[in-house]
Amino acid sequence: MHSIFRHTTFAISLSFVSTAVALSHYAPHCTAGDPCWPSATSWAHLNDTLSGRLIRSLPAAAACHDPYYDAAACETIRANWTDPNWRSDTPGAYQDTAWENGDEPCYVDGPQNVTCQQGLVPYYTAAVRNVEDVQAAVKFARENKLRTRTKGAAHDYLGKSSGKGSFGIQTIHMKGITFEDDFVLSGCEGPTEKALTVAAGEHWYDVYKAADAHNATVVGGAAISVGAAGGWALGGGHSFLSPQYGLGVDNILQFSVVTADGETKVVNECQDTDLFWAMRGGGGGFAVTTSVTYRTHPPLDNITVVLLSVSVAPDALTSTLVEFLDLQPALADANLFGYSYVLPPNNITAVFFYPNSGANCASANATFEPLFQYAQEHTGQVEVLTLSDTFPSQLALFDTYIPPERQGTASIVGSRLFPRSAFESSEGTQKLAEYLSGLSTSDAFAILHLVGGGKVNEPAPDAMGVNPSWRTALEHVLISNSWNSTTSISDRDKIRESLTEKTQELARLVPGMGAYANEADVNEPEWQKTFWGDNYERLLEIKSKYDPTGVLTCGRCVGDDIFGS
Ligand SMILES: Cc1cc2nc3c(=O)[nH]c(=O)nc-3n(C[C@H](O)[C@H](O)[C@H](O)COP(=O)(O)OP(=O)(O)OC[C@H]3O[C@@H](n4cnc5c(N)ncnc54)[C@H](O)[C@@H]3O)c2cc1C
Repeated sequence: MHSIFRHTTFAISLSFVSTAVALSHYAPHCTAGDPCWPSATSWAHLNDTLSGRLIRSLPAAAACHDPYYDAAACETIRANWTDPNWRSDTPGAYQDTAWENGDEPCYVDGPQNVTCQQGLVPYYTAAVRNVEDVQAAVKFARENKLRTRTKGAAHDYLGKSSGKGSFGIQTIHMKGITFEDDFVLSGCEGPTEKALTVAAGEHWYDVYKAADAHNATVVGGAAISVGAAGGWALGGGHSFLSPQYGLGVDNILQFSVVTADGETKVVNECQDTDLFWAMRGGGGGFAVTTSVTYRTHPPLDNITVVLLSVSVAPDALTSTLVEFLDLQPALADANLFGYSYVLPPNNITAVFFYPNSGANCASANATFEPLFQYAQEHTGQVEVLTLSDTFPSQLALFDTYIPPERQGTASIVGSRLFPRSAFESSEGTQKLAEYLSGLSTSDAFAILHLVGGGKVNEPAPDAMGVNPSWRTALEHVLISNSWNSTTSISDRDKIRESLTEKTQELARLVPGMGAYANEADVNEPEWQKTFWGDNYERLLEIKSKYDPTGVLTCGRCVGDDIFGS
């Protein structure tokens, strides 16, 4: 179990108990160091089967520390420490170092003579290249009762792709992007759709480049290094195109997978429909995805981007935030979506996207008129700067405004989904504004994701496994805090505890709403209900059907309460 999972307050309902009984033949996992851990000979056989692609994985900075010190390797690590693609590719590296280290710090800037321990990094990793490799790894894990961790691009904020004493399955080297104009679901007779199939290891940026060349638009993540067919797709997948075309899961036509018995399946609306229901938003742990097929959309005519910087006198932050929050439904109605960073004590910085705007910066800017007006009425206290620009395509926009992220820091996040009604009541916006302006720089900073409404709200709450709260959400409000290599474990724990308290304060503003399972607090007290609401019970039943012995596990995934993380 990850040592930071402190809350075990989940009240098990009777139906969960019956599923637990169905899983009663489940026996604890065998983890590294246990007497039941496979012998060196068994691992060597697996390595042969994988054509030498079994790796003894260590935390990313291990080669900069004794006893693993290697000057040349350490130089490479230093040069690449913040590079998200290097982090995806390196078996023991995660985008967020918290999920490498656990309670055993191993930082690139630490002294050479401080030994790195194993931390949360899987002891061995199968760096799979094809479906057969995945099958071999899953079968080996099942036979040896290992705790597996599937790692795609390694972005998970809850550390779902690492785990102490586990066996890793790294899918990032499974590449391939193909387009079909007359795609038909396997096992169905029709109709045909324009579709794109992405192998498990692709990053969004490469998919955007391919889609651009193919004259197509695909709903994908706002960060170019996020995996296009891994955790993003399984947990929900929001995008600034979601209000127009739905969440990622609303655009998935089918998955190709390896199930916990080591067999391959193609799951969609015609085959293994329950698994298809679960994998669209239920998160990892149902099967290993080898590829995802998405519906594509016509190319965007153009896309206008509005950059906004609102600087205020500190005592004007709450009232300015009220103006800004009141504006959110109007922005959504005008088809402007995006991300706003609230940076107390005195700044809101936002980027909004206006797809198919008719190349019209003026109309985009006009939507912010009430905010400009407010700034004029409060000269000297509130200043709003805007910059708008229009791009011919999604790719051109990403190339200019969404550079590769810098990774390799340690952080924690918490969140809640907010319905439109929260922005339509003056009491609602006042309370949220007070909450946001009350965050001190040592508490956290907040990002408002205006990515809901529209098509996101159309499907029924139980249409698929994703959190039903998405179906009423207009915004995903996230708070985040971080620490560094000089932070002690006890200070880190205080940061995490404070973030959890702040997250629960946020939750009290929207009772009954849940959180986005991919970007949420790992210490949520009732995470099953918060991440999946009324869908959790069915998700657990499907998990128990397809993986009754818990071969495919991940922390804070469906069934984690039974199989352990
Ligand atoms: C910089 C950054 C930007 C982000 N931007 C967005 C955004 O715009 N929209 C959004 O919705 N989210 C965003 N996220 C959150 C993102 O959706 C999650 O972090 C997601 O888990 C990332 O998936 P991954 O495959 O990259 O991560 P990983 O850590 O590799 O995997 C996460 C989870 O997915 C499972 N998994 C991965 N690959 C497979 C597979 N092949 N088969 C089965 N299970 C698998 C793992 O078991 C694990 O549970 C962002 C995160 C970061 C760090």
